[in-house]
Amino acid sequence: MTSNAYQGSGGFAGRWGHFAPELLMASIGAVIVLGLRPVYGPLSLTVSLGLVAFVLASWLMMRRHDRGLCEHCLTSMPLNPSEMAARYRRRFWVSHTGAERRYVIPYLIVLIGSNFATSPAGRVGWAVVQTSMIYLILAYSTHRRLQPWCPWCRENGGGGEHGRDPVTPDPVPGNRRQLI
Ligand SMILES: [Zn+2]
Ligand SMILES: [Zn+2]
Repeated sequence: MTSNAYQGSGGFAGRWGHFAPELLMASIGAVIVLGLRPVYGPLSLTVSLGLVAFVLASWLMMRRHDRGLCEHCLTSMPLNPSEMAARYRRRFWVSHTGAERRYVIPYLIVLIGSNFATSPAGRVGWAVVQTSMIYLILAYSTHRRLQPWCPWCRENGGGGEHGRDPVTPDPVPGNRRQLI
């Protein structure tokens, strides 16, 4: 049965993992709104903690989703992936450059440090820095979906960790062994 190939992609957890990038982006949006217009009173702590818990859970679900094969991803595969890849070159570049350690650490410092900016101008700067995370997640999720068509992955040995043939790209980024 093919259902084994889709293990982990069905059900609530699978759906959550599949939509995790969107959920994470929405959560960051909520964090920004809360940061600019804080909620006071007994609810504030509950809301903040709930949001943190939700972000962490979504992150874990996304990692789980990205390790396997997802039927929602298969059905939502674009018909013209190479055209899409050409259009999203900047996102590919961001997801590769953003993963380099020399950028990750300064970025994290800015990300955490911006929380201490309490002046009105500082809060705007903080919101901008937080918004950059939304773009990073967007770049990561686009890259994951269109990885076989990513020019940077092809340069690094034709398909990176999965050793894909660069001439006939695997339409599904992920573990193709599960299909056979
Ligand atoms: Zn998926
Ligand atoms: Zn790539």
